[in-house]
Amino acid sequence: MTSRPWFDETLYEGWGQRFRIVRELATLKSDFQDIAIFESQTHGRVLALDGVVQITERDEFVYQEMIAHVPLLAHGAAKSVLIIGAGDGAVLRRVLQHTGVRRAVMVEIDGEVIRLAREFLPSLAGDAWDDPRAEVIVGDGIDYVASAAADAFDVIIVDSTDPIGVGEVLFSDDFYAQSARVLTANGLIVNQCGVPFMQADELRQTSLRRAKSFPHVSAYVAAVPTYVGGFMTLGVAAKGQGLADADVELIRARATASSILGKTQYWTPEIHVGSFNLPPYIAAHLPG
Ligand code: SAM
Repeated sequence: MTSRPWFDETLYEGWGQRFRIVRELATLKSDFQDIAIFESQTHGRVLALDGVVQITERDEFVYQEMIAHVPLLAHGAAKSVLIIGAGDGAVLRRVLQHTGVRRAVMVEIDGEVIRLAREFLPSLAGDAWDDPRAEVIVGDGIDYVASAAADAFDVIIVDSTDPIGVGEVLFSDDFYAQSARVLTANGLIVNQCGVPFMQADELRQTSLRRAKSFPHVSAYVAAVPTYVGGFMTLGVAAKGQGLADADVELIRARATASSILGKTQYWTPEIHVGSFNLPPYIAAHLPG
């Protein structure tokens, strides 16, 4: 029997995960990155960019629910949402599940990611691409926020690659200053901030930068199986009030009103509130 090939993740030089490949679906170099989509033996279809796993069909629900529902339900009245990155469309789908959201703008730098995700990973976005509230733009997120109007968005979700290459600008002082300008008075921004067990700098450095433009800076965790190294952190910064001490019954009531409650496989009101209670090895990387 021919041995099937492996996909070896190259995120860490001395450690990594591998997936047995059943079938390669797309492999190409875009203007921005190497893109690979393949059918795996264990996790459904997988998207990797520059050798780093971005999303798998089997565990995507954990990360997408936490990066979308936590900020929207913490805000409580979000109508206009900006999504940066997230070219697979999975965050857009979760944001549009919130019945109070009237406008979701998604800015992805690499049109090839959108094209290939629509063709080979259709379950991730579902029919979000065709939702009349959705606006999908191919462009650099930092250019978009620099030219956006003040007070244009209630929530900004940055589902980008790590702060190397094209993703680096989305973790800069300038980006956070512009984000603070385009967010409304109670606005908040969330960034994927890596796995602190291996990437502690990503949370520490970006939290210090967020603190220059926002009064409330915190983080919450999600256990994403294919983001190897334990808890994945989502760094969050708010203009109005902190997110870390939410009341679980208020979050439950908001989730009911938004038609989210009962539709999730990872997020719950208790997980929402509990996810801000960080283990000391992670809390140590937050300012203050
Ligand atoms: N969930 C994944 C994670 O946590 O690593 C991220 C998935 S999503 C595919 C990451 C996307 O960010 C990529 O499609 C990449 O092209 C996009 N991206 C990177 N830098 C960007 C920028 N400056 N502006 C807009 N999109 C960007």
